[in-house]
Amino acid sequence: MTSDKEQERAVTAGAPSCSAAAPGVLPPGPASQDVECAAALLRDADRVLVGAGAGLSAAAGLVYEGERFERNFAPFIAMYGLTDMYTAGFYPFPSEEARWAYWARHVWTNRHEPPALPLYQALWEYARDRDCFVVTTNVDGQFEKAGFPPERVFATQGDYGLNQCARGCHDTLYPNRALAAEMIAQTEDCLVPSALVPRCPVCGGPMAVHLRVDGHFVENVDWHAAQDRYLRFVEDMRGRPTVLLELGVGWNTPGIIRLPFEALARAFYAPLVRLNRDDARIADAGVRRGVELQGDVAALWPLLAGAE
Ligand SMILES: [Zn+2]
Repeated sequence: MTSDKEQERAVTAGAPSCSAAAPGVLPPGPASQDVECAAALLRDADRVLVGAGAGLSAAAGLVYEGERFERNFAPFIAMYGLTDMYTAGFYPFPSEEARWAYWARHVWTNRHEPPALPLYQALWEYARDRDCFVVTTNVDGQFEKAGFPPERVFATQGDYGLNQCARGCHDTLYPNRALAAEMIAQTEDCLVPSALVPRCPVCGGPMAVHLRVDGHFVENVDWHAAQDRYLRFVEDMRGRPTVLLELGVGWNTPGIIRLPFEALARAFYAPLVRLNRDDARIADAGVRRGVELQGDVAALWPLLAGAE
């Protein structure tokens, strides 16, 4: 059994040192020494655990409001008064035909239509030569599109590209790309034809996009295998220096990535680099090698990885 001190020396040997996170006043933007520190940590890292949230995809271009929303959803905005894609996801559409007309366009706009976005491609350029793993609450498939091997990604909250039984009565997941395209082609007055509304092949009930919105979210064998790979990667932080790189993880579900990353940084004396547009503060005073970079992730990333 090694002592904490020995553990710290083993894990930090050879790694660049940065000043501890300073709790308290929120700075207007990242200080240049913080940018340099994070760049050095990332440059020298052989092993990186990436945690990514909605802020990363928004910075990459998958914006859920404003012009992009209005351009893609004008008929639905006119009919229902929808204000953005976040809240629209919870809108109580009056029928299955209406619900699927909206959701077909939602998954198409955010999952099937976009190519690999440049910010995700830049992340892969950085990560491809390193021992990396991604845990993400994003459901848009961007990591895989950019080149990350699927076995290196744990998408905890689902995938826009799959459907499941809305009641979770069985754990098969159904790719929805072709169905969504057909629904969009046949949508009239914000309704899909009744014949296109999917029904569960087992219980006959409604289907839903594979998203963790209630207690019926399907965690099948693939989901559990991904979770196991994530946990093994984390366990291997003991004795293998690893940088925690957190990108755009806010306060919607902090218990999935944000707070666990602080706990991992504390437990393994691992550097934590946190990029966040709204709140990059590292609250855990036990995180002694934290770098808080507040600002647009797409603007910050080239400063960190540009020296490759
Ligand atoms: Zn069912």
